[in-house]
Amino acid sequence: MDKNIDVVILETPEEDTDPIRFIIRNTTPAFANTLRRIMIAEVPTLAIEDVIFIENTTPLQDEFIAHRLGLIPITTDLSMLNFKDECSCGGAGCSLCTVSLTLEAETAEDETMVVYSRSLKSSDPILSPVSDKIPIIKMAPGQRLILEAIAELGRGKEHAKWQPVSTAAFQYMPEIEVQPRKTDPEIAEACPRGVLQYNEEEETIEVVDLFQCNLCMECVKAAKRVDDPDVISVKGSPEHIIMRIEPTGALPAEEIVFEAANILKERATNFLESLKNEITKKQEANE
Ligand code: SF4
Ligand SMILES: [Zn+2]
Repeated sequence: MDKNIDVVILETPEEDTDPIRFIIRNTTPAFANTLRRIMIAEVPTLAIEDVIFIENTTPLQDEFIAHRLGLIPITTDLSMLNFKDECSCGGAGCSLCTVSLTLEAETAEDETMVVYSRSLKSSDPILSPVSDKIPIIKMAPGQRLILEAIAELGRGKEHAKWQPVSTAAFQYMPEIEVQPRKTDPEIAEACPRGVLQYNEEEETIEVVDLFQCNLCMECVKAAKRVDDPDVISVKGSPEHIIMRIEPTGALPAEEIVFEAANILKERATNFLESLKNEITKKQEANE
């Protein structure tokens, strides 16, 4: 019987912007890639979609500023928001499906100023820019910028600004076998990620941090160079996958993984129900 999938967490996030790293054991690359694609393209977040310019005397055009605003990650609480086109307001935009962020900036006649994301004041402080320090525009003396930005839920498959992750990557689990015999230190020194260490006393190689291995094969090449190719072997196991998810900060990394798994589960359930209905219909028609 096939073994069940299980998960081992390697790196737990402390902050909402911290990455998560985990192993999915007894799986396939296809499953890991499906999860990865759902995280990138289907897990929704908030992003600025419409901008109403009340005054803009800066040299940057409205469209340019609107594009920059759209790319600012905004903290998202999925339990508080509806998709605009599924909302009870019928898509007109209300407090259940949109968040308003206002910005007012003005420079004196002898002043220049960089406007940062901290100047965007949200109608709901829980749903605000992830960082205060994202530059939006540099204003010259005597300029004004007044606008209202409307954020709404969307998905990465519509526009990358709605992606909840800056990185969602996976690799095969490394399997390193080292022969316990005297060899050249160059093999351990060739590893760029500190996975291997040379034991000076025994003159052997040891694996000290397996999960840092990215299967670059530099150690294997070094073993060939020093004429000891059989002392180390490295391969990746496609049955065990290491995933690393780096969030933009809009959603915590764990929530992104949970949401993606739930979306996958919902798809499979819908498929199963539809298949059952079709088969029942066919059987009834044949009776
Ligand atoms: S494959 Fe690359 S990362 Fe892994 S142990 Fe060898 S040198 Fe280090
Ligand atoms: Zn609404």
